[in-house]
Amino acid sequence: MKRLVVGIIAAAALGLTGCTATEPEAPTSYVEDAPEGSPVALNGALSVVDGKIVGQHGNPVTLRGMSLFWSQWDPQYYSRETVDWLVDDWKVTAVRAAIAAEGEDSALNHFDREIEKASTVIEAAEANGIYVVLDWHAHRNHPDEAEAFLTEIARRYGDLPNLIYEPFNEPLRDDVDWSRDVKPYHERMVAAIRAIDPDNVIILGTPSWSQDVDIAAQDPVMGENLGYTLHYYAGTHKEELRAKGDAALDAGLVLMITEFGIVNADGDGPIDMASSDLWWDWAEANDISWLNWSISNRDESSAALKPGTPPSGWSAEDLTESGTILRARLRAAAGFDED
Ligand code: MG
Repeated sequence: MKRLVVGIIAAAALGLTGCTATEPEAPTSYVEDAPEGSPVALNGALSVVDGKIVGQHGNPVTLRGMSLFWSQWDPQYYSRETVDWLVDDWKVTAVRAAIAAEGEDSALNHFDREIEKASTVIEAAEANGIYVVLDWHAHRNHPDEAEAFLTEIARRYGDLPNLIYEPFNEPLRDDVDWSRDVKPYHERMVAAIRAIDPDNVIILGTPSWSQDVDIAAQDPVMGENLGYTLHYYAGTHKEELRAKGDAALDAGLVLMITEFGIVNADGDGPIDMASSDLWWDWAEANDISWLNWSISNRDESSAALKPGTPPSGWSAEDLTESGTILRARLRAAAGFDED
């Protein structure tokens, strides 16, 4: 939106100075502005077609990247330099801003602060020509706050090609029903976003911490460019959860893995490489994007960074075992050596 305003001002200035241009130049498209060869330059705006997320040329697009951690706890990584580093060194094609929406020190009570964090990450992704998932990182319904936040993001960035909305990270399991509780929430969020941004992809969460995609598939939200997130932690979730994913795919849902770990569901415990490889094979075979949890320096095994790691310039010694594996996997997927 800012760039459009600049373009209008520039066009007005041309007229005032008596330039020979007869027509104001059309605003440069955001896709053309993306760095040459970047994921956004190559794929443009995403949409949902025939059970796949596709780019503007109709080809399936698989995004691979990293989720940032709860935004209130590791804010130093909600920075341009961290996104730059993840693009330059880790070769991510997407990042996820996990905007905290639980507890007092969150977007529920610090709207402006968290909007600024989200904006920093979205603008950093735009500058690098990668995609960005804007995740309302909640486990419980906060529809008024969610709608205010998501619509402000849509107002600021809904004209970008690289923005993906995730309006409800992980609805809980007990006493939470998809059709009764979560689907109406999403219908409200989708309507609110669509009133401002008619087209960007929206990825919906389901009960049981975004595992019940098979249940959502029986009663999906109606609308354009909608998909569903499937979250897994490889040490805990195995074939049984992939079967739920297969059921959703068979029913025609589009899936994106906006969050997963190669450890246990509590974000800790040993790395399960055998299970992780099965999950990666399944995702890649189905053109399903994946974003790993998380860019964090907490003392837990899902954190990619060791305690004290700065916002960028990470050496091999700064990375945890999980971070080392993810960096290698992302670089390999992008056609680069592990080094
Ligand atoms: Mg849009």
